[in-house]
Amino acid sequence: MQAVIVGGGIAGFAAAVALHRAGADPIVLERTAGFADDVGSWLQVASNGVAALRELGLGAAVSAIGVPTPRLQTFDPRGRLTADLPLGLQDAGATTRSLDRADLYRLLRTEVQRLGITIVTGARVLSAVDEGNRASVLTETSERFTADVVIGADGVGSAFRRTFGGHGPGPDAATSRDVLAPVVSIGGRYSGSGLTDAETGTTGTLQFRFGRECFVSTMRVDASTVTWFANPRLSTVAGGVGVAVGMSGPEWVAELPRLVGRDVLPLAALVAGSRTVDVWASRTTPRPVRWGRGRVVLIGDAAHAIPPTAGQGASLALEDAVVLGALVAGGAPAPTLAVRMQELRSRRVDAITRQGELLDRSKTLGVVGSALRDRLVLPGAALTARRRRVGPAAWMYRFDPST
Ligand SMILES: Cc1cc2nc3c(=O)[nH]c(=O)nc-3n(C[C@H](O)[C@H](O)[C@H](O)COP(=O)(O)OP(=O)(O)OC[C@H]3O[C@@H](n4cnc5c(N)ncnc54)[C@H](O)[C@@H]3O)c2cc1C
Repeated sequence: MQAVIVGGGIAGFAAAVALHRAGADPIVLERTAGFADDVGSWLQVASNGVAALRELGLGAAVSAIGVPTPRLQTFDPRGRLTADLPLGLQDAGATTRSLDRADLYRLLRTEVQRLGITIVTGARVLSAVDEGNRASVLTETSERFTADVVIGADGVGSAFRRTFGGHGPGPDAATSRDVLAPVVSIGGRYSGSGLTDAETGTTGTLQFRFGRECFVSTMRVDASTVTWFANPRLSTVAGGVGVAVGMSGPEWVAELPRLVGRDVLPLAALVAGSRTVDVWASRTTPRPVRWGRGRVVLIGDAAHAIPPTAGQGASLALEDAVVLGALVAGGAPAPTLAVRMQELRSRRVDAITRQGELLDRSKTLGVVGSALRDRLVLPGAALTARRRRVGPAAWMYRFDPST
């Protein structure tokens, strides 16, 4: 089976590896002129994403990058610990890892090239067409690529998913949950010796600090490096949400320290000690109600933009690739792939999306909601985790490729 993959990101490269392993013949089209080997901040590959990488033959490779992150600590606005929890599965070889997006990208890109799969850079795809017995895409430079199946892996802003439609609810039809307030994530890498473990946690512990105007997450990489991201309460930014969602990195560098107020947040130091900051996912993405049509299949963020702070975007993209590969290996005909992917994936992805939305909402609660979160919900979750010897949402961290 020949496959054209649109988008050389995490989902696209993982799908290329999975399809190659399944005996298919993939080619990857990427819009950027070169490789994004040094772009992006850090992200998490959760236990389920690690399992997916193992299925792709990359288990050993992923264990050599990033930092194992098996614990999560949460704090209230006054800096008091509210919960100390296991993060993800605790089994050997399944530990959640925090890593540079660029490292994961490079790992997958190297594997794609090692397998001899062609990556065409500078190929921005404008549209895809299911032609019945084949499918094709058209690029900006009027090049046409034809294959048995087209995989749309062009990320959160997928232009591609708008180009195939038809009758009934289109792939961009919004669901009621799409009216959620936008969340802006600003992240960076702090270097220095000014921040103590008490302020950012020890290596391997993810910290969530719930401030009144800003949520801050940190993960210490080593004695002098801390990766972090912040989600500000956008309505408190001068000019309101409309202005805040369009703010650049340098604008956030000026704004973030102002949001600390009376809270105990290491934000000013994190910002001051970071050479650059990245800003991403500053809008709510419409969710496709279809994972494609016929021979055109969506995967990764193009199919399901997970709230970035859920820490599952990359993991679910990797899972999608493994499931797609398993379908092809099992002999599923190309025209059935979109429907089969939706059948197999949408329930799990929706449930994880809801988890992410819940977490996002918990960052901007009012006085009563924050008190409940800090005094009841999080300490309760820690208690339950201790009793049951398993962290919260354990189901989310288990990926069984055979189901
Ligand atoms: C450069 C970059 C940096 C990122 N940094 C972070 C980060 O620091 N932290 C974090 O949590 N998440 C980050 N993300 C998002 C994260 O990688 C994804 O949420 C997750 O891995 C899902 O991957 P995906 O492949 O579906 O989407 P992405 O990783 O976004 O990949 C989509 C790919 O498709 C390409 N593309 C888009 N449109 C077209 C088109 N029309 N034709 C051809 N190619 C196209 C894009 O250039 C990109 O390479 C980043 C994404 C990118 C692209």
